[in-house]
Amino acid sequence: MARYRKKPGEIDAHQWLKNGDHPEDGPAEFEGKIVRYFRRPEPEYDGQTVHDLCGRIWHDHGWIDALEGGHTVCPGDWIAKGAQGEYYPVKPNSSDEPETDPLADARSLLAEHERQQDEACRAEIEQVLAKYGRKLVVTQPQITIVPT
Ligand SMILES: [Zn+2]
Repeated sequence: MARYRKKPGEIDAHQWLKNGDHPEDGPAEFEGKIVRYFRRPEPEYDGQTVHDLCGRIWHDHGWIDALEGGHTVCPGDWIAKGAQGEYYPVKPNSSDEPETDPLADARSLLAEHERQQDEACRAEIEQVLAKYGRKLVVTQPQITIVPT
């Protein structure tokens, strides 16, 4: 979950990548309660057809019911909750995009690691970094002897 600032207030948003990703979706083996399966009868929405906008097939998409119709959710969209308790997708790279640093998780873990010198923590950092195609490089501090 990311808590991010959206002027003028703060809203909660969760990034959705696949069925079950929203914390209120329920068990992942069932259709999500918030982000539902994407189902459209029209041939252009066939499950194996690629969505031009995101390059993913429709089968990988989700759907949020709304009062009128609903919202298509592309993998990677952020799911925000509106003032009326309604949910809606926010595209990455839009002006509503969460102002989070994608590597913030890794950085906060690293700070924790520096406090604890914990090897398990380091493994966790490397896992997070791997998701972003990054790796951890530890530069050993130089010990130098200087005149007093
Ligand atoms: Zn899409």
